[in-house]
Amino acid sequence: MRKKLLLGNWKMNKLAAEAKEFALASKELAKKAKEHNILLGVAPTYLSLQAVKENASKDMIVAAQNVHFMDHGAYTGEVSIPMLEELGIDWVIIGHSERRTYDNETNEKCNLKIKALLGHNMVPVYCVGETLEQFEKGLTKKVVGEQIKEGLKDLSKDEAKRIVVAYEPVWSIGTGKNASTEIAQDVCKFIRDVLKDMFNEVSEEILILYGGSVKPENIKAYLSCNDVDGALVGGASLKIESYEGLLNNIL
Ligand code: PEP
Repeated sequence: MRKKLLLGNWKMNKLAAEAKEFALASKELAKKAKEHNILLGVAPTYLSLQAVKENASKDMIVAAQNVHFMDHGAYTGEVSIPMLEELGIDWVIIGHSERRTYDNETNEKCNLKIKALLGHNMVPVYCVGETLEQFEKGLTKKVVGEQIKEGLKDLSKDEAKRIVVAYEPVWSIGTGKNASTEIAQDVCKFIRDVLKDMFNEVSEEILILYGGSVKPENIKAYLSCNDVDGALVGGASLKIESYEGLLNNIL
């Protein structure tokens, strides 16, 4: 049986001192999550990773929001996998729609990053999802199918076992406009079918998250869908009270 995963994406929010405060306050939550066999984590900015890693429970997943695919070199402004490893970070969000939109993160680039992460035994959380225009044109499965096939190209079954996929309809991220649970289940099931074509039985082990305006009030409905194993949450993961509410509602 697949575990549940609740991952907060803090985006470009929180000073390191605020991140540390959250980390300290989250210790009890991490304990509770562990008792219920739920994976719990947050993705702070690079500059807060160390503060969170050092002050949160060791059971808390601390993820980076991006990484470069090269280990080192002339890439001004970038951060490498060994630099994250040095801080004990072993999860990274890849291909978030904001990076696809503002930073030209293509499926091919995501693929390079995912392969590099897996080569370092790290866990990529690969985000996919269609824009509003694509949704309205009925192109969701075409777009998401391509994102999965191109982003996860050339992975072995053993590697595929270690990835997490997050379906995040772009029109729902930060908008308060939720995809219905029917849409979430339908697209997450579609993703699992594509993963099955690519990796056979391994597809049953891969965690698939839903993301897009998830809040304490609606998280339970999403997680009751057969193919939704957890949630990637932006806004509602920023305040400890709301983050606690998210966790409490899926225990
Ligand atoms: C996200 O950042 O991945 C996200 C889903 O944001 P929000 O929950 O705020 O829609």
